[in-house]
Amino acid sequence: MKAIDIHVHVPRHPELPEYGIEPGLRKMFRMKGEPDSVQEMADRYEAADVKAVIFSVDAETETGDRPDPNDYVADVVKRYPERFFGFATVDPRKGAAAVDELERAVTDLRLIGLKLHPIHMAFFPDDPAFKPLFDTAERLGIPVLMHTGYAAAGAGTPGGGGFKLAYARPIPHVDNLAADHPDLKIVMAHPAWPWIDEQIAVALHKPNVYIDLSGWAPKYIPKQLIAEAGGRLRRKVLFGSDYPYMPPERWLEEFAALEIRDEARELILLENAKTVLGLD
Ligand SMILES: [Zn+2]
Repeated sequence: MKAIDIHVHVPRHPELPEYGIEPGLRKMFRMKGEPDSVQEMADRYEAADVKAVIFSVDAETETGDRPDPNDYVADVVKRYPERFFGFATVDPRKGAAAVDELERAVTDLRLIGLKLHPIHMAFFPDDPAFKPLFDTAERLGIPVLMHTGYAAAGAGTPGGGGFKLAYARPIPHVDNLAADHPDLKIVMAHPAWPWIDEQIAVALHKPNVYIDLSGWAPKYIPKQLIAEAGGRLRRKVLFGSDYPYMPPERWLEEFAALEIRDEARELILLENAKTVLGLD
């Protein structure tokens, strides 16, 4: 295994209708043809010699879309245990049901992290209403992968599709959350443009906060983040593609062309993910 991709969206459950945001995302990322099946996804990752963390996003309260069940993600992991790790998703706005579902997904389904998208789910991570959910994640010892920064979904449509970017701002929301949950590992997903400097500051200041570089072609990732990834943040930055929106093959090829020290390169591609996932 040469790398772990920490940010992979599992193909939609074949019996569920596509998410409302999907056509817009596919257009934005200039995707053509039919979406990959689970088998095609597994074949691609095997060919690339990369393991991946797969998950879905439950934003049902806000969007009305039925989520892919966590059981489905767990089943895919069971089919390809050498290839995939699975994260749960729960909709924080479902309250106690979300907390119970997280507990079940980790304890019974053996999922090993939690995926959240504050913009699609429409919640502030540091809102005290959601403290029980993060207390539970901290107690279970699982990392949280949380979208930060700009979102492609809704871009260019009236009102940006109703999506509000402020939910995904690193300071204060991720910083507050990390301060109140020092044993909770948090991965800020994506370069958090337009708040890159805030994101760098939080990752530098909070030992429990990491950054994944997903969703951006490496050559366009803001320079100051790449500089930190090869320097002070070399143990805090992780490879993520945002498959299927960003092909992992393209990400890895462009990353190889960036000027980053070899020592940092190995940390970003593999070792830091092992730390976050608790692998040896
Ligand atoms: Zn994503």
